[in-house]
Amino acid sequence: MSVDAATRTIGNVIGGTECGAASGRTLEKFSPATGELLSLVARSDAADVDAAVIAATAAQPAWARETPVARGLVLRRIAQLLERDADEIAAIVAAETGKSPKDARGETGGAIEMGYFVAGEGRRFYGTVTTSAVPNRQVTIVRQPLGVAGLIIAANTPIANVAWKVFPALMCGNAAVLKAAEDTPATALAFARLATEAGVPPGVLNVVQGLGPEAGQPLVEHDGVALISFTGSTNVGRMIARVAGERLAKVCLELGGKNPLIVCDDADLAGAAEAAALSAYSNAGQRCAAGSRIIVFDAVYDEFKALLLERTNAQRVGPGDGDDLGPVINERQLEHMLGHVRRARERGAAVLAGGERLDRPGYFLAPTLLEDARELDAVELFGPITSLHRVAGFDAAIERANASPYGLTAAIWTASVHRGQEFVARIRAGVAAVNGATYGSEPHWPFGGVGDSGTGWREPGTEALDVYSDLKTVHVTHDPGRV
Ligand code: NAD
Repeated sequence: MSVDAATRTIGNVIGGTECGAASGRTLEKFSPATGELLSLVARSDAADVDAAVIAATAAQPAWARETPVARGLVLRRIAQLLERDADEIAAIVAAETGKSPKDARGETGGAIEMGYFVAGEGRRFYGTVTTSAVPNRQVTIVRQPLGVAGLIIAANTPIANVAWKVFPALMCGNAAVLKAAEDTPATALAFARLATEAGVPPGVLNVVQGLGPEAGQPLVEHDGVALISFTGSTNVGRMIARVAGERLAKVCLELGGKNPLIVCDDADLAGAAEAAALSAYSNAGQRCAAGSRIIVFDAVYDEFKALLLERTNAQRVGPGDGDDLGPVINERQLEHMLGHVRRARERGAAVLAGGERLDRPGYFLAPTLLEDARELDAVELFGPITSLHRVAGFDAAIERANASPYGLTAAIWTASVHRGQEFVARIRAGVAAVNGATYGSEPHWPFGGVGDSGTGWREPGTEALDVYSDLKTVHVTHDPGRV
């Protein structure tokens, strides 16, 4: 495809300066909604990553010497600028992801709230005071920065993903190198520009664009990077844990999900069907928290199936504000999903709705409802695909829900308080909802999973500070003669 004069080139930000890849190479970024070329993107490699880590290393000590309150004020300014430019940021998010402007504005609102929440941590940067067995000894436990934080993100909610990592990383006094998702480069660049305008010193936030193996892996391998905080697929997460673990870097992994939603025989079936459709299809199913396994009691299975099928067929697909879901992020992802649906069908799963690419430009998959696609329990498809499963009752539902290597979010629909509490106690997940969708998070909630969904750290919430800081235990003896 030819590149016309209007095509933008999206660069890196290293030491406060926007630049292309040292190699001069670029990638092409296509619009998910139209398939047209949207931008050229710096195709960075180890040399660019090294330059970014050097800039971050040089800038970090002065940033760490600022008080938490002072850092919080800068972060608050970023949130204010995000709010000022919310429509423009949302337009970039919508263009890069194909989601509707309404959804992109909602996501941008979440990023702004995250900014304000974390900025407030500057005035709540508490430590702990404890006692000692030694008389006249005062003991405090305080947070200290890690140094340079390597941040690697996915493209599904790009401005939220940037906000979830950059705000707490900087709050804790680290400098950061953000490896943007290759499908959402302009979103990351727009955030970095606002950070510069807000007064983040050069080098404290660097952005490196490019592909995972070329620009992400060198960041993971770099000895100057103290922490890798990664949001993405479980397979890449495993590799990161191995490589960063080898050099004993701290690793926070927020990975995939295959999230169950259980519908009991006493559930509000209409409400449950609405929640199941929202869980499965919103953001075109490109949510780690997507409800991709709908587990239904035998007694209400047929009635519920009809309700969910009706809602599946009623989904409006397109990139506009009147639509329920947009395209998936790229051609490769669309082909990946079509392949899995084909194989599931060959192995006996029924395709009740969808399963086909829509006959229009861009990367649109019809909302897809499968039945009995058990072999997909361990496969995250990351698209608008969900599967119905019939179970005899409560114990079988819990067993089925837990029979996946993932453990991110889970939901149950029931009128019984007892069943709700039993579910919360027995479900293997980081987030559990009673009578709700398999939702993601709010800025002040800890979010993360167990099993193949992550390494146990939680972002965002105050708990995010634990990801981005180390603890230092300090004891001061004020009458040394008595020690
Ligand atoms: P992905 O793992 O392919 O890519 C994610 C990021 O990792 C991208 O920036 C990519 O360039 C980079 N990357 C790829 N290979 C790499 C390598 N060898 N070394 C270093 N970096 C590398 O994931 P994706 O398909 O872009 O995103 C979807 C995945 O993200 C899904 O599995 C989804 O569940 C997960 N996700 C998880 C959460 C969460 O909070 N748990 C949130 C959003 C998305």
